[in-house]
Amino acid sequence: MAIYEFSCPTCGLTFEKALPMNADRSAVRCPAGHRGVRRVFFATPMLFKGSGFYVTDHRSGPASSHENDGS
Ligand SMILES: [Zn+2]
Repeated sequence: MAIYEFSCPTCGLTFEKALPMNADRSAVRCPAGHRGVRRVFFATPMLFKGSGFYVTDHRSGPASSHENDGS
């Protein structure tokens, strides 16, 4: 998941949306339902170290209390 910022040219609203990295961002609509939102890039520069993507450590499922410390 990554947070993307969008701007709606119809109502002028700027909003953020969390999408998977491979999501179809062209299908994103504004909270009012308008189409054709534009991607807004963050003002703060994102640092990409080396080649490749910024990978987040995503976990699947809710955190369960499954911690065995071997007592
Ligand atoms: Zn809108």
